[in-house]
Amino acid sequence: MSVAQRLAEVQSQLASAAERAGRTVDEIELLAVSKTFPAEIVSQAIAEGQMALGENRVQEALEKQALLPEEVEWHLIGPLQRNKVRKAVGKFACLQGVDSLKLAQAIDRVAGELGITQPIYLQVKIGGEDTKSGFEAPELVSTLESLLSLSNLQIEGLMTIPPPVDTAEEARPYFSAARELRDQLSEAGGIPLAKLSMGMSGDYQAAIAEGSTMVRIGSAIFGGR
Ligand SMILES: *Cc1c(COP(=O)(O)O)cnc(C)c1O
Repeated sequence: MSVAQRLAEVQSQLASAAERAGRTVDEIELLAVSKTFPAEIVSQAIAEGQMALGENRVQEALEKQALLPEEVEWHLIGPLQRNKVRKAVGKFACLQGVDSLKLAQAIDRVAGELGITQPIYLQVKIGGEDTKSGFEAPELVSTLESLLSLSNLQIEGLMTIPPPVDTAEEARPYFSAARELRDQLSEAGGIPLAKLSMGMSGDYQAAIAEGSTMVRIGSAIFGGR
């Protein structure tokens, strides 16, 4: 199957999952995760109108940005090391892997110097030690005020990667916990944290059922890595 065919298949599955969840499909954004795939392959998705792309490494993303249309909306979905902040701020529509106050402060500082507002997601660790990076939920609750005081950041919502599980069904409790945390933080902070970035190729339908507003899909569109 071509990238165009796989993309169409994902869009149709996404629409059915939204319908089953009683949601409308425009509430759910599709981020095509293009990491490891060369610009020639990625451009096949862009040709189909897929303009939101996710990359997990700054350098690789910048190289592809130079080769692909300017209208593409790039999201950094991998961890951001503090020594790469200067390279990343302003180069991505959104930095999704913000997992500490120190990192948020560093991004805020550079955004301030550039005179821009940088949209970010706060990455949250749901489900304990198995999950990689992210704020612990209680830590996020206590840090929220400091995060909200960073005036050069636009905090869009939460991003989460559930711990490895065997079936998408087993990931559901992690997705629902992320949604509940998002709601709790919105209330505590008095701000609408509207967005929830969760769900990948293997579990996006479950994530949509639990309220995901952005699914990050790589292999189901571009093939195995
Ligand atoms: C690679 C990656 C994805 C996409 O994973 P697939 O299983 O290929 O869909 C989503 N989110 C993050 C953070 C990733 O690193």
